[in-house]
Formats: sequence, C-alpha cells, structure tokens
Amino acid sequence: MRAIRILLSCTFLLAMPAAAQVTVLTAARIHTMDAARPRAQAMAFDANGRILALGRSDELLARYPQARRIEAGPATVVPGLIDAHGHVSGLGATHLSADLVGTTGKEEVIARLRAFARELPQGAWLTGRGWDQNDWSEQRFPTAADLDAAFPDRPVWLERIDGHAGWANGAAMRAVGRDLSGNWQPDGGRIERGADGRATGIFVDAAMELVYKAIPAPDDATLERMLSMGMQDAVEHGLTGVHDAGVSLRELEAYRRLADQDRMPLRVDAMADGDNKALAWLCEHGPYAHASGRLQMRAVKLYADGALGSRGAALLADYSDDAGNRGLLVTSPQDLQRIAAKAHGCGLQVATHAIGDRGNEIVLDTYEKVLGAATAGDHRWRIEHAQVLAPQDLPRLARLHVIASMQPTHATSDMPWAEERLGAARIDGAYAWRKLRDSGARLALGSDFPVESVDPRLGLYAATTREDAEGKPAGGWHPEDKLTPWEALRGFTLDAAFAGFDEKEVGSLAPGKHADFVILAEDPLGIPAEQLRQLTVQSTWVDGRPVYERK
Ligand SMILES: [Zn+2]
Repeated sequence: MRAIRILLSCTFLLAMPAAAQVTVLTAARIHTMDAARPRAQAMAFDANGRILALGRSDELLARYPQARRIEAGPATVVPGLIDAHGHVSGLGATHLSADLVGTTGKEEVIARLRAFARELPQGAWLTGRGWDQNDWSEQRFPTAADLDAAFPDRPVWLERIDGHAGWANGAAMRAVGRDLSGNWQPDGGRIERGADGRATGIFVDAAMELVYKAIPAPDDATLERMLSMGMQDAVEHGLTGVHDAGVSLRELEAYRRLADQDRMPLRVDAMADGDNKALAWLCEHGPYAHASGRLQMRAVKLYADGALGSRGAALLADYSDDAGNRGLLVTSPQDLQRIAAKAHGCGLQVATHAIGDRGNEIVLDTYEKVLGAATAGDHRWRIEHAQVLAPQDLPRLARLHVIASMQPTHATSDMPWAEERLGAARIDGAYAWRKLRDSGARLALGSDFPVESVDPRLGLYAATTREDAEGKPAGGWHPEDKLTPWEALRGFTLDAAFAGFDEKEVGSLAPGKHADFVILAEDPLGIPAEQLRQLTVQSTWVDGRPVYERK
C-alpha cells in the first residue's frame, strides 16, 4: 500500500510547478526534539508534508530558492503535541450536552436546559454537565422534582462538575427500567434516597452506570459528529495526535469513514476497547493502519481497577480514610492474564488502566508472566495512569520496558484529597513522574480528556509546577516529582509517539518525518514554567498543512 502511495505522490509532484513543491518555514526558533539537531531556525517540507531539511534560514532559503515561504517571525515551532490518553467521542459528546459550568442556582440550570432543549428532537435525552451545588445559595444536592416541572417527559441526566455524581429527572429514572427504591446499593456507588427509600435523583460514582446504560447509543451520523468535534477541539489546542483509549469496532468504522473522506484533521491511535469485537477483529486481521496515515489500531485497552476519587482504585492496604476498604478490581487477574495472552498471541500492544498500587502490581505481574522473555524486547506495553505505585514496583516499569502513560493534570486535580485517601507513606509513590523517569521508564503524557481538559498547555504546566491554576501550593505539591519543561514537552511529543509505535513518523522534527508541528507565540522552553498555561497556539499543522489557525 505504501509503495502505491509513493508512486501516486511522485506523479503528483511531476505535474506540479517546481515552486509549489517545497515550503520553507522560518521562525525565531524551532525545538525539534531531535537529538541530532535540537534547534533550528528553518524547516523545509515537500508537497506531501514530509520534512526535507532543518537548519539556518539562509541555508535553507539558498537551497530552496523557489520555495513557498512561511515566516513565523518571533514565534517558536515545536513538534505537534500528542495526547497519549484521551477519549475523542467523549470529548465530542460534551459539545452535544448542555454546559452547566458556573450556574448560580437551579433556576439558571433550568433556563440553560430549556434553551438547549429547543435544538433537540422530541423525546431525545437531554444531557448536561458541570453543575456544582457548592456554587448555589442553597448548597444541597438537587432532586428529580426540581427538573420534573420543566421536563415531565423528556429524560434529563446532568453530570456534576467532577463527573462523580449525576442528577436525573423522573423520566430518566423510569428509563432505567428497574425499581430504584428500597435500601440496596450498587458496588462502588450510591443511590441517594429519601426517608421513604425512594431515589431522589442523585446517583454517585458506580450508581451512575444505571442511568448511562439507559441512554440510547448514538447513531452513525451522531457518532461521526462526536468524533469530528472532538478532533477539532484537539487541533485547536495544538494537538496533532491522540491516543484514543478505548474504541469499539463501531467507533473504529466511524473513524474509517472519516479517514476515507479525508476528514481527520489529526492522527488517531485507537486502542481496541477490551475483550470484545474490536479485539477479535484485530486478532483476525492484525494491526490496522489506514492508508492516509491518520488512523491506526494496534493496541487493546484493558482495565485493572477503578479510580481513586471514588475509592475504586485497588490498594494493597486499606484506604487511609476508609478502614476495611481496599478498592475493587474491574477485571480479575485471571481474565487480565487470559486477554493479555490473547493480545500477545495476535502481536498486539496491551495498555491497561491501573490506578491503585494493587492494580499496578497485578498489571506488572501479568505483563511479566505473559511476555516472559519478550519483556526485554520492543513490546511497548503500557500502563494507563500508573498513578500509585508501591516502592518495590516503581523500578519494575523500567525493568520490564513498560511505558508509563500518565496525565499530569490528574495530580493537580486530585491533590486536595489524594493524601487523605493514601496517607503520607503511599503518596510518595503516587504521580511519581520524576521517580519513574529517573528509574529509566518512559513517560508518555496525556490528559484523559474529557475527564480533564484537552488543553495540553495545562498538562505542561501541571507537569512542571505541580500547582493548581492559582499557583497553589506555592512551589508545588510534592515538588520532588516535577518534570522540567523539556521533559514534559518530550512526554507530549517523542515519547507519546513512541508509545504509539509512531516515533519514526512523528514526535520530533527531522528529515523524512511528517511535518506535524505547532507554532507558538512564546518559547515553552524559554519562559518560566508558571507561564506555560498561557502559551498561545497560533496554528497547528499536520502533514505540512494548517488544521487550525488562530483568528
Ligand atoms: Zn481514560
């Protein structure tokens, strides 16, 4: 397939006037992330968006006198940023639901919902997110009755700002199709109930699943729209690649249709979602890559445990703030091993969600067992989050060549309560970017959008400061695990590319690679780390073409 493409593009080149073939981009500085030439002032690329050369401006302008020129002036160019863990359809879905962030009370929530519902077909679910009762005058959880007067028939489901609670109306609870009253509670979750045992409309953590299951799956056109909106959001923030952590076969097909129509503005490295149709398909056909170079699937995403905030992360000892609770395993170690062995047999990469120290230990044990002698090879198996590691497990990632796929903003979001959950000793092995990197492990950085913002500037800032948006705590939370700006940038470029088997194509700016890059008004390696949040993305380029330009 590749040979055919090159042939086609050569024909294309011959037919074009010489001047249109080469572009020379000049800027104050280009950080290439290429060890052979870390800095340049100019980059030449061809009509196919392949980099020809990097060097000084006078050098390249002399070598390509006919070239089209792009002058970025005082700007800085860096390789296109890659988010090693996000959820594109989930990000797109946020555009299809009502934004309730900053609402000052239930009246404002209802007003925003009424406005949003005007666009919706009759009977369709109305979803929203971002409410926070702490911002309201009456700081109590709302109830279904608050929504029912305005929406007696249309199901309404509204996620709290932190994503750990949802607010349903009566129609949504009826759609669940099971009696929610009584005194039973689902594992890992809570249904809020009144004195009479009836559900009030608030569902916490795993109880939210009851409602999610009742929401109809989007049709093909809606799914494509969600992916398109998610990808558009990503390129507007300087991303040229995303590793989509959990994609069904149906979603892969939607991506393929978009790729066939040249409607993918960036590269997506899709991970098959669990032991289901997508994995079976991959096992039958082998790793998948679309001819456009914009879409591939060669990994399977598995889950070991839950999350820390809801005490679902599996710990080796009790939660420090909940005696007797050690969290929960989402997949049994036996199943994890069986699926990992199946993926290994099919030549696939495995990426497993693990948050707690027990979850991480089980994943490391599983990888070691399944890979055997192959741990020394180029398997690139990953742990997604690798959030809390026992001291004895920290060095095992480097030893087993396991990639730590981590999300810096999780640390700054979790820091207000993480130490209560874990205690002073265990927190040492939590969000331990510096310790992992120094042990020799490779860090692929991401955001886990839409759980966190898709904006990689926030990740660069969190990685280097470990401070929140207000600069607190001053000096950073457990500052010994900060990364340098260069290390953080590498985690969002070359090492993320490596984690997707893409480092020969993207991740740094070097001859032969795709011209995927970002033009920034400021130099991320020259400004204080505190200012990384305010970097200005002027434009985002994929294959030498702009996919986003700031107005
Ligand atoms: Zn995720």
